[in-house]
Amino acid sequence: MSGVTVVDHPLVARHLSVLRDRATPSSDFRRRLSDISMLLLFEALRDLRVREDRIDTPLEQTGGMRLADEIVVIAILRAGLGMTDGALRLIPEARVGHLGLYRDEESLQPVGYYESVPDHATDAEVVVVDPMLATGGSAVAAFDRLKRDVAGRMRFVCLVAAPEGLQAMQEAHPDVPIWCATVDRQLDERGYIRPGLGDAGDRIFGTE
Ligand code: URA
Repeated sequence: MSGVTVVDHPLVARHLSVLRDRATPSSDFRRRLSDISMLLLFEALRDLRVREDRIDTPLEQTGGMRLADEIVVIAILRAGLGMTDGALRLIPEARVGHLGLYRDEESLQPVGYYESVPDHATDAEVVVVDPMLATGGSAVAAFDRLKRDVAGRMRFVCLVAAPEGLQAMQEAHPDVPIWCATVDRQLDERGYIRPGLGDAGDRIFGTE
């Protein structure tokens, strides 16, 4: 599928295997998710724009570089919180926003219940993170919301994508590139990704 990059790396595959394992406790799950998030974001941010800079080493002046654009990471609640620590370890200067969305039982449409998007994010590099791209409802709603106020370049980084979620994003936001560690087989009748890793939020926060 165009615009979708599956990050193919042995360390990503190893972290993903541990995350899938039902025997992995929450403490390890959180650490692994943070580490794999760094690897995924490292790939997803490969084309960041840079600006030349001058640096004084202890011995002389030399050429250096700085990031040309501000980076804004937007975590979709609640599971996206599990990726923000890794994002901030990779990009300490990033600012972090949050979007909370739940699915209305009757309409099955995502409804926003919380949002905090950094001010002046209008010309930033915006990276939305959520470990699971399942139906795509939350991701589509998040980009619908962000595009109303934010004019920056946008990308989406997840861990496990379902073909159904990728399709939904492709239809609604074909301009948003996506990075993931795997595209799994399918969604089941309860909306879980198979084989997947279960409910990412429960596994991060130990609420199973
Ligand atoms: N959200 C999850 O946490 N897991 C899934 O399998 C699907 C959506």
